[in-house]
Amino acid sequence: MSSVQLSQHRDDIILMTLDMSGKSANVLTDQVYADLDSALDELESSPPAGVILLSAKPAIYVAGADLVKISGALDWSDEQIHQFCDDGRTIMSRFSRLPSVSVAAVHGVCVGGGMELSLWCDHRICADDRRTLFGLPEVKLGLIPGWAGTVRLPRLIGLEPAADLVTSGRLISGADCLELGIVTRVVARDQLIEESTRIIDAEVAAGEFRRQREKLLGPVTELPVDMERFRTGQQARIDANPEIDPVAPTRVLTHMCDSASLPAAAAYTSEMQVFARVWGSPQNRGLLHWFFLEERAKKTRGDFGDAGPPVIETIGIIGAGLMGCQIARLVLAAGYQVLMFDADRQKLVRSVRELSESAKNGERLQLVDSIEAFGPCDLVLESIVEKLKIKQQLFERLCAVVGPETFLATNTSTIPVSDIAQAVTHPSRLVGMHFCLPVEPLRLVEVIAGNQSSPVITSVAVDLVKAMRKTPVVVADQPGFVVNRLLCPMLNRALDLLQNNIGVSQIDEPMREFGFSVGPLEMIDFIGVDTIMYAGETFLRTMPGLISLNPVLPVLVKRGRLGRKTGSGFYCYESFDSPPEVDPDFESIMANYQKEPLAANSDEILAQLLDPMVTAARGVMTDGVVADRRDVDICSVLGTTFPAVRGGILYWADELRAGQSTGAMPS
Ligand code: NAD
Repeated sequence: MSSVQLSQHRDDIILMTLDMSGKSANVLTDQVYADLDSALDELESSPPAGVILLSAKPAIYVAGADLVKISGALDWSDEQIHQFCDDGRTIMSRFSRLPSVSVAAVHGVCVGGGMELSLWCDHRICADDRRTLFGLPEVKLGLIPGWAGTVRLPRLIGLEPAADLVTSGRLISGADCLELGIVTRVVARDQLIEESTRIIDAEVAAGEFRRQREKLLGPVTELPVDMERFRTGQQARIDANPEIDPVAPTRVLTHMCDSASLPAAAAYTSEMQVFARVWGSPQNRGLLHWFFLEERAKKTRGDFGDAGPPVIETIGIIGAGLMGCQIARLVLAAGYQVLMFDADRQKLVRSVRELSESAKNGERLQLVDSIEAFGPCDLVLESIVEKLKIKQQLFERLCAVVGPETFLATNTSTIPVSDIAQAVTHPSRLVGMHFCLPVEPLRLVEVIAGNQSSPVITSVAVDLVKAMRKTPVVVADQPGFVVNRLLCPMLNRALDLLQNNIGVSQIDEPMREFGFSVGPLEMIDFIGVDTIMYAGETFLRTMPGLISLNPVLPVLVKRGRLGRKTGSGFYCYESFDSPPEVDPDFESIMANYQKEPLAANSDEILAQLLDPMVTAARGVMTDGVVADRRDVDICSVLGTTFPAVRGGILYWADELRAGQSTGAMPS
C-alpha cells in the first residue's frame, strides 16, 4: 500500500494523508518520496482547488529524513549528496507549483525534512496540543537542513528568527510558530480539516497565495538592520551553547547570511554546498552514531515475562550523604514513597529537611530512626560509605528486618556486588545500581547483575532507573563496572602527570577542550577525593596493573582536602556550587612528591589521558563487562562526559584509527 493516500474531502478539495505502514512515525524514505511523487502526478493531472496534507500518525507528523539511509551513505561523493538534496527539493517543491492551494495540517512532531515539506505548502496550520512541535534540529546531528529549509524559512519569517531556529536546532510549539508567522492558525486537532478548508476557500477567492509564492522565490525581505552585528551576536550564541557542536551551526549561519540577498534558486545551491561539507564530517558521524545509541537505549525495559512487573511503592534509602540525597530526589520525583536513614542523625535531619522543602513530591519523604523501620519497604537501596565490611554489616542487619520478597540494591561504585551479597540472606534479591556524580546532569545508571542477582531484580532496577528518567545499562559484576573502569586509569594518569610537574589547569584544560564537561582533577574534586581513593584501593586489590599506586590522593585526604564537599581539593571552592579557583597552596603540597619533570604540550597531555581510557574501554569488552560495544559508548558519554559529538569512546577510537576523526575536531 502506498504511504501517501489521496481521498476526496469535498468535490474540489483532496486530502493527502501520509501513513507509512507499520511505523509510528512518517519518515522521508526513498519509498515515501516515490509515493509522494506519484500522488503529486495524480493531483497535477486533475488539480483540485485545494489539497490538505495530513498525517495518519497519532504523535508524529513527519519525523524527517531517513537517518538509516544517511548513516549508510556517509562516504558519498559531493555529486551524490547534491543529488540527494536536488531530488528531495524537486519533489517537495511541486506543492509550490501546483495550481491548487496547499495546506499542511499538522498535529504531532513536524521536524527536519518534515518541517521543510510543510514549508513548501502555501499554508501551515497546526493542532493546539503539547505534542505538536516544529523545528529544524539537523545541527544536533552535525548536519544542516538540505531541502530548502534554510532558504524558505528566512524568506517566510525573516532572517533573524529563522537563523535562530536553524542554528539552535530547537523545537517550538504551535503558539510560538503562530507568533513567528510559520503557521497561519492554531486550532483544536479535530478542527484541522475544517480550518484548512476555510483557508483554501479564502485563498481561492483572494489569490494571495500566488503573491506569497513569488515572495519566497526572491531574496529575504526582512533583514537585520546591522548584518555584521547580527552575525557576531548569533556566532557568540552558537559558541556559548555547550549542547551543540558549533561546526554545523557556524556553517549554516554563514550560508544563511551570505545568501539572504540572493534569489532563492541561488540560495538552494549555497545550501546544497554547505550540506555536502557537513555530511560525513567527523561531527556528523559521531552524532549520528550517538543518535542511534540513544534510540536503542530508549527501548531498554525490564523483562518480567508473563508475571509482569512487581508492585513497588515504598523505597528505603540508607545513607543521606552526597549520593543518597541526590538519589532520593530522583526517587521522589518518580512518585515513590521514600523512607530515609543515616547513622549520622544530624546529617539525616538536615538532609531530610532540605529534601522535603525542595524536592518534587518532598512530602512523600519520611525520616526513620533505625534500620528496623524498613520492614514495609518494597525495595531498599543503600548508599553508605564505600567499605565492604560496613556494607556487609548493614545488609546483615537489614535482612533481619525485611522479608525475602524485599528487593535490595547497593549504590557501590567499585565493590563487587557478589562480595556484598555474601552478607545477604537471599542474594538473588540484591542488585547494584551505580549512579554517577553529579547525579542530575549525568544520565547513566549502571545496573550491576551480581553472580547471584536474579533476572527479576535486574529488571526491577532497570525499570526503576527508567522511572527516574535515567538511562540504565546492565553490566557484569567486575571491578569498577564500566564507568569507573574507564575513569580510574585516566584519573590515575592525571595524578602521575601532576607528579611530573604539570600544573592542575594544564592537565584539566585539554580534556575540557576535547569536550569533557570537566577536566580529570576537577572531576575528582566533584566525586570526592576520598571516594576516588577508596575506588583506587579496590582496583589495586582486584585488578592489579590497571592503575598504579600514587601518593597524591592520600596526602589530600590526610589534609582534609576532599574536594568540593570540604571546600578544597585540587582547586578551592567558595561554596559547594561555586566555580573552581586555582589554589596557590597546592604547589607547595605537591613539592615533596615531584618526580621527573615532563615537557608535554596540550595535545600530548590529552593523548596521555585518553590512552588509558581507550585501553580500559577495550578491556571492558575483552572481559565481557558488557556484551555490546555500544554499551561502552553509552557509558562513556552518559557516565564520564566523553563528548557525544565523538560518538563514544570506542567509536571515536576506531574512527580515529580509520582516519575519519581527529583528536582536535576540524572546524
Ligand atoms: P558520603 O560520605 O557523602 O555519604 C555516606 C553516608 O553514609 C554518610 O552520610 C554516612 O553518615 C552514612 N553512613 C556511613 N555508614 C553508615 C551506616 N552503617 N549506616 C547508615 N549510614 C551510614 O558518600 P557518598 O559519596 O554519598 O557515597 C555513598 C555511596 O555511593 C558509596 O558506596 C559510593 O561509592 C557510592 N557512589 C559515590 C559516588 C560519588 O561520586 N561520590 C558515585 C557513585 C556511587
